[in-house]
Amino acid sequence: MTDIKICVVGSGGVGKSCVTVRFLKQKFAEYYDPTIEESYRKPVTVDEKDYELEIVDTAGQDEFASFRDSSLDYGDGFLLVFGINSPSSFAELQELRKKILLMKEADSYPMVIVGNKKDLPPDQRTVSEAEVQAFCESINCPYYETSAKTGLNVEEVFFEVVRQIRKSKPELNK
Ligand code: GDP
Ligand code: MG
Repeated sequence: MTDIKICVVGSGGVGKSCVTVRFLKQKFAEYYDPTIEESYRKPVTVDEKDYELEIVDTAGQDEFASFRDSSLDYGDGFLLVFGINSPSSFAELQELRKKILLMKEADSYPMVIVGNKKDLPPDQRTVSEAEVQAFCESINCPYYETSAKTGLNVEEVFFEVVRQIRKSKPELNK
């Protein structure tokens, strides 16, 4: 079985922990300690291949600048999460992406962009889907809107990052 490490990154409060817990336990854990960085393992089958995922639910992104020493350094792929009710989290996501590419010394890296809290009523949405879509097309990165609360698209984003990793590492297809 192939081991794959996925790091879940994004501004505080966007739902990284809730999305991770929804994926692991099929439930919505409304409150999660914002300071805790936790790592989980889960065996999955994606497109008929078996993987052992290690998922790092990160916290404390201000230290991102010096994360060469941190566990993020060896992520095989990233879920970049923002809240569709938080323009600042979408701006920060774009900065995080740049930092990841700098750290990995690459023009591209396996990533999926995740607009979370899709369940919120439309009047609370403040980041336009079209704007995010245009950005994601320009950088050639898959985009999904999720809800940790309802479970919408949560499994899909983890599976999609596995597919992105597989594309970038042909040896995993054996
Ligand atoms: P993190 O700091 O990125 O790990 O964010 P958390 O997972 O701790 O979530 C922050 C807050 O957003 C909590 O109050 C959650 O209950 C809430 N939240 C997370 N995901 C969703 C979602 O999909 N929909 C809604 N409505 N609230 C969410
Ligand atoms: Mg958290």
